[in-house]
Amino acid sequence: MSTISDLQLVPPSVALPPETEELRAEVRDFLAKELLDGRFVPRCDVWLSGWDERFSRELGARGWLGMTLPTEYGGHGRDALARYVVTEELLAAGAPVAAHWIADRQIGPSLLRFGTETQKQRYLPRIAKGECYFGIGMSEPDSGSDLASVRTKAVRVDGGWQLTGTKVWTSGAHHAHAFFALARSAPVEDGNRHAGLSQFIVELDSPGVEIRPIKLLTGAHHFNEVVLDGVFIPDDLVLGEIGSGWHQVTSELAFERSGPERFLSTFPLLVALVGELSSAGERLGTAGLRDLGALVSRVWTLRRLSLGIASSLSSGAPADVPAALVKDLGTRYESEVIEAARLLVDVPPDPGAEGGFARLLAEAILHAPGFTLRGGTNEILRGVVARGMGLR
Ligand SMILES: Cc1cc2nc3c(=O)[nH]c(=O)nc-3n(C[C@H](O)[C@H](O)[C@H](O)COP(=O)(O)OP(=O)(O)OC[C@H]3O[C@@H](n4cnc5c(N)ncnc54)[C@H](O)[C@@H]3O)c2cc1C
Repeated sequence: MSTISDLQLVPPSVALPPETEELRAEVRDFLAKELLDGRFVPRCDVWLSGWDERFSRELGARGWLGMTLPTEYGGHGRDALARYVVTEELLAAGAPVAAHWIADRQIGPSLLRFGTETQKQRYLPRIAKGECYFGIGMSEPDSGSDLASVRTKAVRVDGGWQLTGTKVWTSGAHHAHAFFALARSAPVEDGNRHAGLSQFIVELDSPGVEIRPIKLLTGAHHFNEVVLDGVFIPDDLVLGEIGSGWHQVTSELAFERSGPERFLSTFPLLVALVGELSSAGERLGTAGLRDLGALVSRVWTLRRLSLGIASSLSSGAPADVPAALVKDLGTRYESEVIEAARLLVDVPPDPGAEGGFARLLAEAILHAPGFTLRGGTNEILRGVVARGMGLR
C-alpha cells in the first residue's frame, strides 16, 4: 500500500517557457479585437454553454486547436503548456469555446492514443480546424458515479456492433457530430465489472439515434438524453480494443478533470467583481479585502497545480489522483467566487441585464449546481484521492 509520503499528490511545479508569453499576447490581441467587434459577450461557464462554431473555426485557423496533435494529423505539434496558455486566456475572457471544447480537450488525445490510423485521419484534422465537434457518452439514467454499471449493450453483428441503451446529460449532443459511447460488450464475469466494457464512436446522425433535449435551470438547451435504438457501429468505428473500455475511459477522465476550466468557470465574474468594487469606489474594509485577496491567491494556487498536471499528462505520467484534487478544490472555488460576489456588492443578479456584473452573477448562480457534478462528483473524487493516498 502506498503511503502519504510516497504519493505525488502535487506534481512538480512548472515554469512556463518565455515563448509562451508571445503566444499569450497574440491570443489576448485576438480576443480584444473580437470583443471590440462585438463578436462575443463575456459569459460565465463558457466551455459548457458558449457554443459558437464561427469562433471555433477562427481558433482553428489560428492554430489554437489540436495544438498538441502531430502535424501529420492536422495538429500543430506544440506542447501541453502552449495549449494551456491558450485555453486559460480563452476561459478568463469568457469567450465562447463550447463547440470544440470536448473534441479538443479529450477526444483528440484519446483518438491519438487509442484510435486506428483511419480514425485519426478521419477526425483529427477536422478537430484541429474547429469543424468537428464531439460529445461524451458515458452517463446513463441509472449510471453516473458508478460508471462501470452502464447498461448500454453492444451486441456483435455482421461487420460491427449494435448498440442499444440510453445516455443522459450529454452536453452538446444536439450540435455535435459524434460521441464516444461506453457500452457493455460482454457480460460481467467473476464480479469484474471493469472488464467487458468497450468504447464506440457513434456518429450522431446514424439511424436509430434519437436526441431529446433536457433544459437547464436557465431554460437553455445544453444537454440531452440520447437514445440508441439498435444503432449499427461498423468495426472501423470501435475505439481501441474491445473489452478495454474501462482503461480507455479512465485515461480520458484525467484530461477531463484537471484543466483550467475546473476553476475558471466563474473567472469573468471575479473580474467583474473587482471592476464593480473599484468603479463604485466601494469601501471594502479589511474583511472584504481579505476575502478578495484569498480568492485571487487561490486561483493562482489552483493554476499552479493544474499546470503541473498538464505537464505530467503530456509526458505520459499518471495524473488521475492530482486531477481529482484539482476538480474537487477548483469547482468548490468557482462557487465561492459567487458567494463573495453576492456578499461584497449590493447588486442583485439579473439574467436579463445587458452585460456586466448583474448578468454574470445571475448566470454563475444558475450554472453553479452543475460545477461539482459534471465530470464526476466531488464525493467520488475525494474517494479517488483517498484511495491514491492509501487511505481506503
Ligand atoms: C452540467 C453537466 C454536464 C454533464 N455532461 C455530461 C456529458 O456530456 N456526458 C456524460 O456522460 N455525462 C455528463 N454529465 C453527467 C455527470 O457526469 C454525472 O451527473 C455525474 O457523474 C454524477 O452522476 P449522477 O448524476 O448519476 O449522480 P449519482 O451517481 O446518482 O450521484 C448522486 C449523489 O450521490 C453521491 N454518491 C454516489 N455514489 C457515491 C459514493 N460511492 N460515495 C459517496 N457519494 C456518492 C454523488 O456524489 C451525488 O451527490 C453532466 C452533468 C452535468 C451536471
